[in-house]
Amino acid sequence: MRSPLTPARLPLPDCARCGHVSRLVGQDKVAELLREYAAEWQRLLIDPELGERSVGVPAWSPLEHGCHVRDMCLLFHVRLDAMLGTASEQSSASSALNAPDAARRYRDEAPRQVAEELGRAAEALARRLAALTAEQWDRDDPRLADPRLTVDFFTRHLLHDIAHDLAEVLRGPERQQRTQNEQ
Ligand SMILES: [Zn+2]
Repeated sequence: MRSPLTPARLPLPDCARCGHVSRLVGQDKVAELLREYAAEWQRLLIDPELGERSVGVPAWSPLEHGCHVRDMCLLFHVRLDAMLGTASEQSSASSALNAPDAARRYRDEAPRQVAEELGRAAEALARRLAALTAEQWDRDDPRLADPRLTVDFFTRHLLHDIAHDLAEVLRGPERQQRTQNEQ
């Protein structure tokens, strides 16, 4: 049951690494931003140079990152369903993604197909987010004890993940060098 008091918002720190500032994103801009990030990801995935970049290093390749972003969008429907008390078609389709070996297959996926799937997954999610009511944005997860973990919080978290991965992939060589230095 929800508290009649509005819970304090959990702060999402500004990210120095990718420049994403969650607190500046209005709820009415979330869907638009998600579509913009998805379009950037699609552009990246169909970039012919993608295949020439190294795969299999400890850090993920752009393709693997793209697969991860697509799956984050798909799995977010499951979270939304749990929080909003709804059941969607996407939710049952997304459950299959919880298979433990899903990540290992990312590198074998076809970039163009991933780009298409990412676009569809992001668009479905963007439509759903665009239709959320103010009350739904403030819903918390009944499975978790913290009322600050709202739809708003998780959505901002997801949006940052997608933006952050994008920035990391665009950073490219420096990212790999950094990873190697950390070995
Ligand atoms: Zn970031």
